[in-house]
This record gives sequence, C-alpha cells and structure tokens, in this order.
Amino acid sequence: MKIFSTLTERKEELRRSDSDEFRMFVCGPTVQDNIHLGHAKTYIAFDVLTRWLLKCGNKVFFLMNITDVDDKIFDRAKRENVPYMKIANRFFEEFVEDLESLNILTVSKFCRVSQYIEQSAILVRRLLDMGIAYRLDGNVYFDISKADHFGKLSHQTEYDLKLKQIDAAPGKRNSVDFLLWRKVDSTEGVWNYASVGEGRPGWHIQDTAIAFDQFSGNPYDLHGGATELIFPHHEAELSQDEALSGKIPFVSIWMHTGLLLENGEKMSKSLGNVLTVRSALRKFTSDELRYYFLSHHYRESFDLNLEEISHLSAKLRQIEKASRIVLPRSSESQRSSRSKLQTLPSRLPKTNKLVELLADFAAAMDDDLDTPQSLEILYKLSESIVEKEMDSKDANEEISKAFWHMVDSLGFVLL
Ligand SMILES: [Zn+2]
Repeated sequence: MKIFSTLTERKEELRRSDSDEFRMFVCGPTVQDNIHLGHAKTYIAFDVLTRWLLKCGNKVFFLMNITDVDDKIFDRAKRENVPYMKIANRFFEEFVEDLESLNILTVSKFCRVSQYIEQSAILVRRLLDMGIAYRLDGNVYFDISKADHFGKLSHQTEYDLKLKQIDAAPGKRNSVDFLLWRKVDSTEGVWNYASVGEGRPGWHIQDTAIAFDQFSGNPYDLHGGATELIFPHHEAELSQDEALSGKIPFVSIWMHTGLLLENGEKMSKSLGNVLTVRSALRKFTSDELRYYFLSHHYRESFDLNLEEISHLSAKLRQIEKASRIVLPRSSESQRSSRSKLQTLPSRLPKTNKLVELLADFAAAMDDDLDTPQSLEILYKLSESIVEKEMDSKDANEEISKAFWHMVDSLGFVLL
C-alpha cells in the first residue's frame, strides 16, 4: 500500500519497521470543547486506513494523544470557575463518545498529555545537555540551527523561515526557535522540576514524549493529522525526534488530511464557524457523514456542503438496500483477510466480475487510500445486487463476503 508522504512529496510504500505491528500516531484534539466535523473528517480517514491495514492482515497499534494541558482549557476553567481537569475530563469523555457515534473504533490507546509532563521535562533536559536547546528568561527554546534541515517537512527554505516568527520573544537565536518549556503566570497547571524549572511543557515536546514512551524510543511508521499541523507543530516534532534519537528519519511517513472549510475558511472554534459532530449527528446518520467524507479524497480540502451530504444519501440507500439482500454480516466477514477473499472460488462464471471488483477495490485502497474510487466500487456492487444482475441465489456466499469486506473496510454501520 502506498501513502502520500508530506516529507518526500511522493507516494511511498507503507512499511512496518522493526516491530510485528504497524505503529501509527495521530494527533488528537485539545479537550476544551466538543469536536467539530473538521476533526471527524481527519479521524475517519485514519480509521479507514487502520481498518484497511487490519483487513490486509496487519496488526496495528493506533496511538492518539489527547492535549489536556493547554491555555484554552485553563481559560475556559477560569471563565466557568472550575478546576481545569474538570473541563479536560468532560471533553475527553465526550470526545470518546463522539468517536464511537462516528463508528471510529480503531484507536488502540489514548495518551493524555497530563500524564507525560515528567517525560517531557526529561527530554527538554536532554536537549539542553546536548546543546540543542537553550534557556532564556525562564523559558527553554529549541535552537533550529542545530536541527537536520529545519523546514524540510513543510518545504520552507532558510529564507522563508527568516520571515516567520514562532513563540516570539526578544533575544531568541532564530525567529522560529520554538518553546520546549515555558514559565507560566498561574497557580494551576504548573510543574516544577529542578532540571528545567517551574512551568509547563511546550506543545510539540508533549507528542515526542508520548511517542518515545509508547514506542520505547524506537522509530515508528506513520505520524498523522490535518495539514494545519505540518507547521510549526510537526516540523518541530520531527526536529525533536531526530535530534533526541539520532535516527533520520525517525518517522517513516508523515500523512496529512486536507481541511474542512466553510466558505473557503478553515472550520475552527476561533473563527466561530464550527458544526460540532454532536449537532451534525442530529441531522445526519454517522454513515451519511462517513459517505460524504469518503467520497472526497482525504488529502482534499473542501467546503462543507450539507446539501451534498443529503444528495449522497441516495447512494448510501442503495448500499443499505443491498445489505438487506445479501447474507447477513457474519463475524467471520468482519475478520476475513484480503488473502482469503482473493482466492474466492470462481466456480460460477458470474463471479469473475466479482473478483475483478475486489481487485479494483484493493487497488484503490492501496493507492493512497483512494476512497472516492473504492466507494464507487462498493456502490456499483450494491447496484448489481439490488438490480439482481448478480442472482443472490447463485453466488450468494461470495457476493455477500465481497460486499461485507468492502463495507467493513470503509467502516459503515448499515443498520
Ligand atoms: Zn500533536
């Protein structure tokens, strides 16, 4: 299977490094509020990727971090006059509920940043000892001139970077040196370690701390999130990972999903144009939302179009109809691997078409998760089933298997 790598700007073969399972890490949300459809678009893409890797017989460890230490959470807690962990706990629980409502069931483990403060401090200290980080006014910054080509992930030259500012402060060595540890003016959410001082870890080091802990300091296979995370978040993370481990590349593939827009603007809480998953699910089913997102390629950024969701529902109805004609979904069909399906007995001439459809489906999924194409193949198969082009009494077992193989790979519930 190939996935488009943000770093090399090419489709690259997905490979497992030295582990028996495929290890991927996707940036989770900041738990200050309920997630919106932009988040849903991203997490559905990684859910389908995981489902497909599992279908192809891989073991997958899908790690997601939860940012529960962040100014936005502290601000909300102050406004509501409650301890910040109360806000963080509430929205973490509601996030997990939202994922379940969207049938995103593939995350193996959630790691909350608040549990990784000490690990973050240890890594910051190590970067200081290595001479890669420096102290300034109680803060600690990463010196990007010590990194292996800072800017390589976001494809920016030294000149591009000179025009940018990250974590602006007078006295920094480079304008894009970013915070690893920062002092804060607060009584809540402050940690004190002799090695780094009193404060809070920066945003980017938290992910590195979680990945180093969960993967025992070893390189891993895929790191993902929405494109807005490429710079500075993932650029910074990449530099930290490589500096601390000495391994280049540390992450094999950086995979990013396009943004969900609203009149050309990013859907975001700060812009006030969000449609939360909760309110969308009062209007549409989770299958309708999934069909809509999968009918666009994951790398595409596009405007949210509610009419299009309703329009596509007609195609989804066809798949639902087919699901009532084929044999019921068995637990076996949900487990069956691709190798099994590729060796379907073709005793009936009609099944040739089926083998072809399955091969096309696999080819589309393997080609950078081309879900618009694979979805169309499932739709075609459903149409044939509904229109009795394939007699359900004849090749019913093979057809049913193929149908559920596609449905489960794409993650539809079809109730
Ligand atoms: Zn992250």
